[in-house]
Amino acid sequence: MDSKGKKKMPTSDLEWQSRLTQEQYSVLRKKGTEIPFTGKLLHNKEKGNYICAACGAQLFSSDAKFDSGTGWPSFDEPANAKNVLLKSDSAIGMSRTEVLCKKCGGHLGHVFDDGPTKTGKRYCINSCALTFEKKEK
Ligand code: FE
Repeated sequence: MDSKGKKKMPTSDLEWQSRLTQEQYSVLRKKGTEIPFTGKLLHNKEKGNYICAACGAQLFSSDAKFDSGTGWPSFDEPANAKNVLLKSDSAIGMSRTEVLCKKCGGHLGHVFDDGPTKTGKRYCINSCALTFEKKEK
């Protein structure tokens, strides 16, 4: 914690490892992919915000969430475009666009142009990279 009571951003792999679960570490820091249909937030339909599990940045709103049938939580747009970083990724021999948290650089998932809503986007995000904050009534 710093003087403002905020958690300091880890600067090393070791620090990240101690802050995150093994699964979160492999996704957020090592660009892994969680096993589809295993994520806790996949079927979450409550109203609220999805924040970065690593740094708390606001990433997606429940209003943007939809069921893509892929087994990963899917959103048609970020809550704030400034909080996500899009990067072209050809890691597995196919051209995709990686989605990262801009604040901590954590890997979140990928975005595709086959979304069913008017944005046309499908942000395919690992559940374990997100923390859900339920909206107060
Ligand atoms: Fe983050």
